[in-house]
Amino acid sequence: MTTAPNTLFKITRKTDGISAAERERIVANPGFGRAFTDHMVVITYTEGRGWHSPEIMPRQPLVLDPAASVLHYAQEIFEGMKAYRAADGGILLFRPEANARRFRKSAERMAMADLPEDLFLEAVSQLVSIDRDWVPAPEVGTLYIRPFMIATEAALGVKPASEFKFIVIACAAGEYFSKESATVSVWVEENAVRASHGGTGTAKCGGNYAASLTAQMEGKAHGCQQVLFLDAQERRWLEEMGGMNVMMVMEDGTLLTPPLDGGTILHGITRDSLLTLARDQGLTVREERYAIDQLYSDAASGKLKEVFACGTAAVVTPIGTFKSAHGECTIGDGQTAGPITSRLRQGLCDIQFGRAPDPHEWVKRV
Ligand code: PMP
Repeated sequence: MTTAPNTLFKITRKTDGISAAERERIVANPGFGRAFTDHMVVITYTEGRGWHSPEIMPRQPLVLDPAASVLHYAQEIFEGMKAYRAADGGILLFRPEANARRFRKSAERMAMADLPEDLFLEAVSQLVSIDRDWVPAPEVGTLYIRPFMIATEAALGVKPASEFKFIVIACAAGEYFSKESATVSVWVEENAVRASHGGTGTAKCGGNYAASLTAQMEGKAHGCQQVLFLDAQERRWLEEMGGMNVMMVMEDGTLLTPPLDGGTILHGITRDSLLTLARDQGLTVREERYAIDQLYSDAASGKLKEVFACGTAAVVTPIGTFKSAHGECTIGDGQTAGPITSRLRQGLCDIQFGRAPDPHEWVKRV
């Protein structure tokens, strides 16, 4: 694996940015996905030369040839991760090497250039360092970091591109879901699927998300903030949500989540961390298939106590209601987070913000 020493990055600082007072005003109330920081990282890949010319520059529009492969054949992958401000003012990343590893897997699936994990991590750290004033206070939120890779070769014809750009941008971020209620409503999509065996479900590629949007629109029309996708073969088994994994808490305290072995579900880093924390807390964890009809009957009988969505952006978000074309089902009281959901969320956040011991060494100080 090649290492990128600090000095490798050419750094051009933004000089005409907004005032510190204006930035502080934005960072105090950032919303989600719009309060972008001042800088970006760009690293270029050319076949035969490898990754080269790493730069940190003022955030700016990209110049792309209209024939760039990404625009036609969607050769694109991305990651989503966060930087957290600790009580002492320090800045922490949570399992960044897991994002770097998943990024390589996504690249492999999409026939894109392999980005060494060290270079990914260095790029993220450099951006967070230069834009550290954009990391909100812990009571406000986090810095959401978006590393991504696009195929830039200007050539029509379906083939893997020979030129890519790896880019990292970031934005100050508050809660992903608006805080009208502690719980969210989820639309159970019975027609469209997100992924199928042999498809790209485990890759974090833009196309997966584009394909999920009509279901999201349908869910929104029914008052739902998220969509639950079922398996492609039988439309029976729970898979995951549009941008987060799903977990159930049963009457006996067991934590249940769909398994990853079908190759259709994104290997969520939050999912993995919560399963570990749950085991640490003495809960029984089962990675097992769970049918949507079972969910409806277990919710009705009281066997199913809590359901939540989990992911970097959503953290742990309790689900109050499932709706489908065939009806509606309430989980718990429909309004509040259950005790195990709350405990897992608290346990995870305490580690992410550096408030609790970190026995698995998940947190990296920038
Ligand atoms: N599933 C999908 C489809 C996602 O987009 C995400 C967000 N990356 C997740 C699950 C959760 O993954 P993570 O916990 O790594 O953010």
